[in-house]
Amino acid sequence: MAGLYIHIPFCKRKCLYCDFYSCTDLSVKDAYVDALVDEMSLRRKYITKVDTVYFGGGTPSLMSAKDFVRIFSSINKLFDLSNCAEITVEINPDDITPEYADALAELPFNRVSIGIQTFDDDELHFLNRRHDALQAVEAVKRCQDAGFTNISIDLIYGLPGQTLSSWDKNLECALALGVPHISAYHLIYEENTPITQLKDTGKIIPVDEDTSLLLFSRLIERLSVSGYEHYEISNFSLPGYRSRHNSSYWDGTAYLGLGPFAHSYNGCDEREWNIASLPAYLEGIRNRSPRITSERLDLPTRYNEYIITRLRTKEGFLSSELERRFGKELFAYCLRQAERYIASGMLLREENDRIRLSEKGIFVSDSIMCDLMKV
Ligand code: SF4
Repeated sequence: MAGLYIHIPFCKRKCLYCDFYSCTDLSVKDAYVDALVDEMSLRRKYITKVDTVYFGGGTPSLMSAKDFVRIFSSINKLFDLSNCAEITVEINPDDITPEYADALAELPFNRVSIGIQTFDDDELHFLNRRHDALQAVEAVKRCQDAGFTNISIDLIYGLPGQTLSSWDKNLECALALGVPHISAYHLIYEENTPITQLKDTGKIIPVDEDTSLLLFSRLIERLSVSGYEHYEISNFSLPGYRSRHNSSYWDGTAYLGLGPFAHSYNGCDEREWNIASLPAYLEGIRNRSPRITSERLDLPTRYNEYIITRLRTKEGFLSSELERRFGKELFAYCLRQAERYIASGMLLREENDRIRLSEKGIFVSDSIMCDLMKV
């Protein structure tokens, strides 16, 4: 099993909160497609059988159908896709004309992930998003009309000044679209982003912790009563519509990431990532020497990653698997650290060899994970 991630590092403009690697100069788009195809060929041995493909960004919907045809032709030549169940493309609402939605549906994509973030025009404007609420709704409808059934939308909450009532309106808009998957992330003030600068200079005030918890709690409550399974801290799906690609990250499956700053993982003890610079990336590929940094993951690091990724999921982890993977010592350490949360019966549950966050534990997941991690 393996995943293939393809990074499209272009954005028409930068959103206020974003720290993903992307640039706004689209003049090298054609050269980038050439480089992607070459990188794929150079690194094809990293994985063989591909179960999921994910085009993320940046903004993959800035690519033309012709660009995608070229990339897919290379994927098909180099990898075994006979078991590939999910091929996702991230799209921005204002790129989705009816013709473009039809073109995407003609390509091998069977899932779209739409970066809506909020249905409030003032919030969209503040975040420097390119679209408005009407375009967001239209984009979903256009994808549905083009034949996509597996549609995910992204939302952000915890924006400065956000209230429960404005978040409620957002959730009602999201639910009215009838999409089977919703990812909702709390705003994070990442380093070196314009929104963090606004916060640090006192121009905006982040929501307080009580409001954050209230918004998260309403999200869970509203989506759960509407039939969505809360299968990962930030992800909700109708039955049968979990994101397979993202689930494979949480399961520790190997993946190959192509493009600047794309990360790869060999499924065991090594991670590597491409240089976070488009010009340097292009030059490296041109010289047939990709600019890659790699890191060997020692046992405690692998254990910590296992705890962080598994505990985020509804299923948590199996104690027996933890012992098998990391040995008796780390297993005993984990149980010792988890004991008080399990004993209280409030924050961690232990049933049939499985340890997972309780409904209450989800709200303090960060501190529980920290306690279980090996420092
Ligand atoms: S469109 Fe996406 S990747 Fe581009 S700046 Fe906005 S959030 Fe970041």
